[in-house]
Amino acid sequence: MASDEFDIIRRYFNSSELAFPIPELSLGIGDDCALLRPAAGMQLAISMDILQEGVHFLPDADPYLLGQRTLLVNLSDLAAMGARPICFTLGLCLPTADEVWLDGFSKGLAQVAREHRCTLVGGDLSASNPAHASKTLCVQVHGELPVGTALRRSGAKIGDLIFVTGTLGDAAAGLKVLRNACKESLSKLHRAALVDAFFVPESRIEAGQLLRSLASACIDLSDGLASDLLHILQASDVGARIELDALPLSAALRAAHSEAEQRRLAISGGDDYELCFTLPAENTEAMRQALGAIGVSVTGIGAITAGTDIQWRELGEPVVLKISGYKHFHSALAGVVEGAH
Ligand code: ADP
Ligand code: MG
Repeated sequence: MASDEFDIIRRYFNSSELAFPIPELSLGIGDDCALLRPAAGMQLAISMDILQEGVHFLPDADPYLLGQRTLLVNLSDLAAMGARPICFTLGLCLPTADEVWLDGFSKGLAQVAREHRCTLVGGDLSASNPAHASKTLCVQVHGELPVGTALRRSGAKIGDLIFVTGTLGDAAAGLKVLRNACKESLSKLHRAALVDAFFVPESRIEAGQLLRSLASACIDLSDGLASDLLHILQASDVGARIELDALPLSAALRAAHSEAEQRRLAISGGDDYELCFTLPAENTEAMRQALGAIGVSVTGIGAITAGTDIQWRELGEPVVLKISGYKHFHSALAGVVEGAH
C-alpha cells in the first residue's frame, strides 16, 4: 500500500521510467527546487495545462490513456512554438491514493515522457477537497529553442497560405463515442480511431521544430479552428479566407456523423492538438518536403487576407457560420465538455 504522499511520489513518480537524467538537469526530484542548466544560446519555452475530471475527462477515463493525454496536450504547446521538450513538473489533486489509477496514470505519463525525452523534475501532490472528491491534473512543460527563433502567433502576413496538420474533428468525435453520441452502426475500428484521437493526440513536436524556419505564425488547435485561428489573426492584425471544402476529415469522422456535424466538429470541436500555421507561398514546397519526410500530413485550407475576421467559403462562395470554439466561463458546463481543454 502507498501510505502517504512521499511514498506515492517515490513509488509512482520518482522512478527511472519517469524521472530520468538528461544533460540539462543538475538536480531532479527531492529538494525544494529542481536545478536546470540551459545551454548557451538557447531560450526556455514554458507552458502549463490543467485537466479536470468532469471538465476535461470523464471520471472513468482509463488512467494509462489519461497519463498519455496529460503530457501530450502540454507538449502540443511546445510544438506550436517550435520548441524541443526538456522536462516537466506535475501537480496532482486526488481524492484517494488509488494504486491502480496511480500505476496506470504514471505508466501512461512515462510512455510519452520517454518517447520525447521529457523528464519529470518535480511537482506537488495534494488530497482533493472532500466536498468535490475529483481529480485535477496539472503539468508544466519546459522546452528549449535557439534564442529568437520561436514560432509566434503574431507573424502572419497578408498573402500567406494557411495549413493544418493531420485531420480535424476526430477528438471531439471521440468524446461523442465515449458518450454514445454517434451513429450506432459505426464500426469498432472507427470508434477506436476516434477515441484514440481524443486520448492520444498525435505529437507534432518534430513538425513544430521543422516549421521554425519556414512558417510565419503557428498555433496548436485546442479549442477548435474557428477560435484558435482568430488568435493568429488578432496577434498578426490580419484576416483569413478559409475554404470549408478543403478541411481535412478522416474516414472515421465521415462514417460517424452527418456532413453538417462533421463540419461543426472540425471547426469548433476542439482537442485536436494539430498545428495550424501560416507561411509565405514560396516556402510551400520546402514545408511539404520537410513534413512529408517525417510522415506528417498537411493540408492547405486558405489564405491570410486584409481585415480582422475569418471569411468562410464553400465551393468558392462566402458562407455565414455561427459557431465558435469552447470558452471556459462562457459556455454552459454540463459534465465533460466537448472542446474544453
Ligand atoms: P515542498 O513541500 O518543498 O514543496 P514536497 O514535499 O511537496 O515539496 O515534494 C518533495 C519533492 O517531491 C519535491 O522535489 C517535489 O518537486 C517532488 N514532488 C512532489 N510531488 C510530485 C509529483 N506529483 N511528481 C513529481 N515530483 C513530485
Ligand atoms: Mg520545499
